[in-house]
Amino acid sequence: MNIILLGAPGAGKGTQASMLAEKYGLLHISTGDIFRANIKGGTEIGKLAKSYIDKGLLVPDEVTCRIVKDRLMKDDVKRGYMLDGFPRNVFQAEELDKFAKIDLCVNIDVEERLLMDRICGRRVCACGESYHVSALNGRTTCAKCGGELYRRDDDNPETVKARLETYFGQTAPLIDFYKKQGKLLTVQSGEGSPEEVFKQICAGLAEYVK
Ligand code: AMP
Repeated sequence: MNIILLGAPGAGKGTQASMLAEKYGLLHISTGDIFRANIKGGTEIGKLAKSYIDKGLLVPDEVTCRIVKDRLMKDDVKRGYMLDGFPRNVFQAEELDKFAKIDLCVNIDVEERLLMDRICGRRVCACGESYHVSALNGRTTCAKCGGELYRRDDDNPETVKARLETYFGQTAPLIDFYKKQGKLLTVQSGEGSPEEVFKQICAGLAEYVK
């Protein structure tokens, strides 16, 4: 099964992806993670990506689509995968349809007023886990692997504002795109726990698999 995880920044795509990876063995492919690894490695793609990421803008489609296309050519995708952060606009979705077969798009719906606090309070670990400061009680290390937690460079109020604008202007139209394809599964994520969202996703997937 190949899934897209759609949702605004702060919707919890990464958190749901790691829970889904554990339960269903699906491969987690995050374009944001790929860009961050390139930035860390000082590659040309990393340098280019950083200039957009720092402004809360999308990295050009040509570069992003090429990265995803190459990634989906590897053998390990055969077990099924989740795309987290791709596609992010209609052009990318149309391109994706040319080189991949997507079964379902899981749209994690969060009220806009909750997003800014969720992202600016987010602390992440290199292992992929993320936390909200309010739940850390002063702890600075990851409960899963003991790694040091940090705030992503683009999780600051100014960049987040731009990222949200990018999301509502360019990415949210994908909800309709996948609805029209009959592939949309929308789950609600309010002030409840990630486990509650996960339950909704699992119920939706069970329906789909039937
Ligand atoms: P994320 O980790 O998904 O929040 O992505 C971090 C940043 O990477 C985004 O704000 C974009 O600048 C860039 N990015 C990630 N995925 C894409 C994509 N599919 N298309 C263009 N830019 C992307």
